[in-house]
Amino acid sequence: MEIQAIALPTEVAERVWKTMNSPGYGHPASNALAKGHGPCRHCLRPFRIGEEERTLFTYSPFRENGMIPLPGPVFIHTERCERFQQPSGYPVELVAYGAVLDGYDGDQRMVAQRKVADGGHEAMIVEMFEDVAVRYVMVRDLKAGCFDFRVERKVDSDG
Ligand SMILES: [Zn+2]
Repeated sequence: MEIQAIALPTEVAERVWKTMNSPGYGHPASNALAKGHGPCRHCLRPFRIGEEERTLFTYSPFRENGMIPLPGPVFIHTERCERFQQPSGYPVELVAYGAVLDGYDGDQRMVAQRKVADGGHEAMIVEMFEDVAVRYVMVRDLKAGCFDFRVERKVDSDG
């Protein structure tokens, strides 16, 4: 089975870069030199600490119809970046960082949770998806707890 990491939509990043407000919340976004590795939720690359500027805003990763929002703080590069587009697998630049993996069912209930810090991120997510109840996995930072990105089973584009 292959997995696909899904980064923050570019339309959301564009709104933040343009308005310097949190889409849907209106809280002001703010820029600062990176004090942590992040990652940037749009390109899914770690920030270069003390070198790159990052923009902080409020975001809920649960955006589909009928979902209960779960807003929290997220960061993107202050300078426009390209959205993450690795065709499959766990983002290679993020394997070095520990993660909490929350597996959700179709009713937005968390039905599985794992922690990983030994580089076995992808294998662990594949194992979680062996349970058909798990529809998607939300990846969070192991220490800060903030939402990083969502993972789904990869669907064949020609299928
Ligand atoms: Zn970025």
